[in-house]
Amino acid sequence: MPRKGIALVLSAPSGAGKSTLSGMLLKDFPEIVYSVSCTTRKPRPGEVDGRDYYFISEADFLRQREAGGFAEWAQVHGNYYGTPLAAVQEKLDQGTDVLFDIDVQGAAQLKLNLFNACFVFILPPSLDELERRLRLRGTENEESIQARLCNARDEIKEARWYNALVVNDRLELAYTHLRSVYLAATLSPSCQPQLLQSLLQGGNY
Ligand code: ADP
Ligand code: 5GP
Repeated sequence: MPRKGIALVLSAPSGAGKSTLSGMLLKDFPEIVYSVSCTTRKPRPGEVDGRDYYFISEADFLRQREAGGFAEWAQVHGNYYGTPLAAVQEKLDQGTDVLFDIDVQGAAQLKLNLFNACFVFILPPSLDELERRLRLRGTENEESIQARLCNARDEIKEARWYNALVVNDRLELAYTHLRSVYLAATLSPSCQPQLLQSLLQGGNY
């Protein structure tokens, strides 16, 4: 039986540092594939279509959703977001690990549907620091900042059922924790069914 890919699912309130930590993990482990979501949100300066998101119209999003094209979807801060199903399924079936950056509603849907998944919630050191980071990033207007801060409390309440909580205070320490959680997940029996089977059949790994 071949190795199964892991779905490593990261959630966090906007501004907690999820993109920063995802970037570090993808640089460290170039074999991990990032699940590029579809969104109806407008691109931020520097964001590239097909790399950060597939930026699509609301009509296209609803059409794909009706056709069952998303592994999960949610409305977040007034925009639609969804994970394209086919690409992700293909990678996981091939044994490739896939990194997801999705909100708590989407993560809950994946928890019901994905067997080999690890759910990590990134926490800010405080709500004040979250606000400071959002403002410092300079990508949101005041209305968007307020919506994200308001949403943050509800999202944090959902973090209870995740497999791991990583506090992003000192970036290097947070990354060490995230890396450890990922490596531990790769050692789970469900991720490497071939190990037990080949040993019992008298072979080598
Ligand atoms: P998210 O993807 O969760 O919305 P980002 O990764 O964009 O968050 O981070 C939000 C802002 O905070 C960015 O400007 C980023 O450079 C900064 N940041 C991330 N981690 C830390 C940290 N540990 N300490 C200070 N600033 C950080
Ligand atoms: P942003 O607009 O800041 O890139 O993302 C806003 C929120 O949407 C973040 O919490 C992010 O994790 C979430 N998100 C991004 N892509 C998806 C997706 O495909 N599905 C779901 N459910 N949430 C997503």
